[in-house]
Amino acid sequence: MLQDRFNRLISYLRISVTDRCNFRCVYCMPEEGVELAPRAEILSFEEIARVVRVGASLGLSKIRLTGGEPTVRRDLPQLVSMLRAIPQIGEIAMTTNAALLDELAAPLQMAGLNRVNISLDTLNPEKAAQIARRDYFGRVLAGIDAARRANLGLKFNTVVMRGLNDDELPALLDFARSYEAQIRFIEYMPMGMARFDERNRLVTSQETRAILASRFDLVPETENGDPARGYVCRETGARAGFISSMSDHFCDSCNRMRLTAQGGLRPCLHQNAEVDACAIMRGGGSDEELRGAFLEAAGLKWAGHRMNDVIPLFSSKEMVSIGG
Ligand code: SAM
Ligand code: SF4
Repeated sequence: MLQDRFNRLISYLRISVTDRCNFRCVYCMPEEGVELAPRAEILSFEEIARVVRVGASLGLSKIRLTGGEPTVRRDLPQLVSMLRAIPQIGEIAMTTNAALLDELAAPLQMAGLNRVNISLDTLNPEKAAQIARRDYFGRVLAGIDAARRANLGLKFNTVVMRGLNDDELPALLDFARSYEAQIRFIEYMPMGMARFDERNRLVTSQETRAILASRFDLVPETENGDPARGYVCRETGARAGFISSMSDHFCDSCNRMRLTAQGGLRPCLHQNAEVDACAIMRGGGSDEELRGAFLEAAGLKWAGHRMNDVIPLFSSKEMVSIGG
């Protein structure tokens, strides 16, 4: 069993499968000069599956593939089928920008992927190109349709930014409803080198909810341990979630740990501490030593992050290799 000092059980591992990305979103990466890890340092599929097997023996049951952009990692369906073969693993999900899903949604679903969270910040093609610094909006829409055709569970993630997309919230909610999917409105976190406007862009969840509530009657859903506080729109049945990483963090119920692209087991996105599982594996270490690495990382977990008083100065490389 994987338990931290605050009696939180860890059952969910978020895996950054690559630090590479085909986008350069303004809130995540600088436009140029992204520092990438040498390929040889990135965990192989066999190494990732080994870490997950050991974690599963300690109680991990849910996996999320993220990045960077997970779909740019070659042969990703092969990794999914390796993880699907681990009996204790129930849900396998992925967070993606969807630009490559048109070709990959079906093979990923066949390999055992259950759900995708698709990042969608705007419905306006020009704005999409401005935010992602890439003109791939058509491909993103095709990717969303492919995910639905492949019967993958679908959610949308929107980072709300003042003056950029805060005028589109009702339209985004309606778009998600047309796919019968929840849309989660995420507070912009000023992180690392991509801190493009200090804190001026932050729209709190409270404000986002107020904008939507001026148009719709939002009824709270029963809490289910999800960091997104859920609401249903009485008029249309649309479902919105609000992720308040900045204004009201959800650390008390945190059940997650992270595996970085270079094989660091990290107790929290915002905590600059990790245990090097890659060094253990490449140094010929045993599964027992890897189990020890999981227990050590769980023991390092903070009670809660301190984004509001200490802004972490992560480099952008760290942000994408840790996985958002
Ligand atoms: N590339 C994939 C994607 O964009 O969905 C997965 C990795 S991305 C780092 C994971 C999530 O983190 C995305 O939904 C993205 O919108 C979010 N994210 C990145 N930078 C953020 C920031 N500064 N504040 C809030 N959310 C952020
Ligand atoms: Fe890439 Fe995702 Fe970061 Fe955008 S948010 S730059 S798609 S990793």
